[in-house]
Order: sequence, then structure tokens, then C-alpha cells
Amino acid sequence: MNHYTIETHDLDVYFKDFKALDKINLSVPEGSIFGFLGPNGAGKTTTIRILLDLMHPEKGKVKIFGKELRQNRVDILKRVGALIENPSIYKHLTGRQNLEVIRKLVGVPKTRIDEVLEIVRLKSNADKKAKGYSLGMCQRLGLASALLTDPKLLILDEPTNGLDPSGIIEMRELIIELNRDYGKTIFLSSHILSEIEKLATDVAIIDRGRIEFLGKLDKLYNQNSGLNVNLDVNDLNKSISILENSQLNVSKSDDDTLNVQAESKEHIANINRILVEAGIDIYSIKSDNNLESVFLNITQKLDQ
Ligand code: ATP
Repeated sequence: MNHYTIETHDLDVYFKDFKALDKINLSVPEGSIFGFLGPNGAGKTTTIRILLDLMHPEKGKVKIFGKELRQNRVDILKRVGALIENPSIYKHLTGRQNLEVIRKLVGVPKTRIDEVLEIVRLKSNADKKAKGYSLGMCQRLGLASALLTDPKLLILDEPTNGLDPSGIIEMRELIIELNRDYGKTIFLSSHILSEIEKLATDVAIIDRGRIEFLGKLDKLYNQNSGLNVNLDVNDLNKSISILENSQLNVSKSDDDTLNVQAESKEHIANINRILVEAGIDIYSIKSDNNLESVFLNITQKLDQ
């Protein structure tokens, strides 16, 4: 039994002499929210285009639902819904009319339109023209189109890009709901690291066409345990010299707090102890172990 919804094997893509993808191996567990993370130009969209059979790699294979994409294109793609950056929406039509256009193409019953409008919370605006929709509403309408065929797999390319904070929260809640309540496997690309951190169960980090990490979010934290610690203290200069004498990497932050690089939680406790024993008053300690610092660790290491 296959537990991976998507598997890619050694995908290579060239644009003339430029190698855009280099041996991309991905395994996306069934039922996961899979975050595909990488800076601009890393190769996310190119990979997604291959997953949707919109372009072909020079080398490598793609399996979706356990079957080879090239040989089972139609059968596979009718069970995949996609939202690629800006959904194509007819602005002079209402949300419902837009969905009706797609519904006729994909051949699902008319009743499905109300179901998808309900899921993406657009029912009350369904009969308004799309030209009056916010970007968030357009994205949700795009998602509603992708949901018409009730696909098992959703591929979303930067779904929160350009949305305002409330639009981001709505989209995030929707993605979680589609995964949890509707059993969709979700493959989601983003360069917004904190977004992936809030959503994903599994992560791949791509940088310059190569996969630098693949696995569970927890594993990513454990493997890259570098922590950025900020301390608010009563005597900044004295604290810096005490910690420097203990061979620690210390600096002054812009907001006049102390910034220390720690390797583990135990290390933070030790820093705290050193300062307290030296008579320093500590007002606050904040450690920053979000995906952003982990991600920067991984990609910056490559520059060295
Ligand atoms: P972004 O978030 O900026 O879209 P991305 O991670 O999606 O970035 P891709 O669009 O996949 O990155 O691009 C990967 C690399 O391949 C980039 O260096 C890009 O300039 C290059 N590239 C993409 N499409 C083409 C093309 N049609 N011709 C030449 N180079 C291309």
C-alpha cells in the first residue's frame, strides 16, 4: 500500500544551460499539509508545473496516487485541484457564474456549486460581480473552482501571496479545514516561512534547485537547533563582556537588548545562570526557534 500521494524521483530541469532543478526527490505523505518552502527563484513553480504535467523534466519521474503521471495523466489530474498564483476569473461575471463556467467544463452536478461556495465561505457574495471582490475573495473563488471536482489532492502555489492579514488568516483556516474535515492532502508552496510553520505537518526546503531538507516539521527543528536568544538586562555592556569571556557569540540588538546564539534549550539555561551569578538582572528572555531562523541557517550555510 502506498502512503505517499506525491513522489518525485531525481527530477532534473534545464532552461538552456541553467539547471533549474537538480535531482528533486519529494515524498508527500497522504493526508499531510506539505509545505514547499524556498526563496524566490528556488524552483518551486517549476516543480509545481511538473506535478501538474504542464512541463516535462529532462530527467526523472513523478508518481501521484502511486501511479506514473505521464502514463496516467487524465486519470490523475481529474483528482487534483490546483490554485496557481492568480486564479483566472472573469471579473464581469458573478462568483457563481464563474463557477458555472468551470462546472460545465469539468462536468459535475450543479449542486456542487453551492457546496464549494459554502466551503470557501463565499455564499453570501456569490451573486455579486467578481470585479467587486477583494483579493482574498478572488483567491477563495479560485479555490472553489479547484474544489469543484472534489479532488483528493490540492496543489496551491503561494496561496496567501499579496493577501492582507485577515485574508491570510481566512486562507490559513480554510486550508486547515480542507485537510482536517475534508481529508485533502495539500501541497502548498510559499516563501512566507511563518505561514508554513503555522500550517504544515511536513516540509521540503528547496534552494537553488536542490532539496535541502525533507521531513516532518519537528525533525527540522531538532536537526537545526540553532536558537536566536534575546535578553533584556539591566547592564548591557557588562553582560556582553561576561558572555564573551565564556566564549559565546554575543551582539547588541537594535532595541538595546542582548542577542546570543545558543545551540539548545539547555544552553539558554546556562546563559541565564552565568548572568544571574554575575549579578545581572534579567527582565526578559525570548528565544526565536521559528522556521525562519532555521531556514536562514540552512540557506546561508550554502553561501559559505
Ligand atoms: P518565485 O517564487 O520567484 O516564483 P520559484 O521558486 O517559483 O520562485 P521558479 O519560478 O521555479 O522559482 O524558477 C526557478 C529558476 O528557473 C529561476 O532562476 C528562474 O529564473 C528560472 N526559470 C524559470 N522559468 C524559466 C524559463 N521559462 N526560462 C528560463 N529560466 C526560467
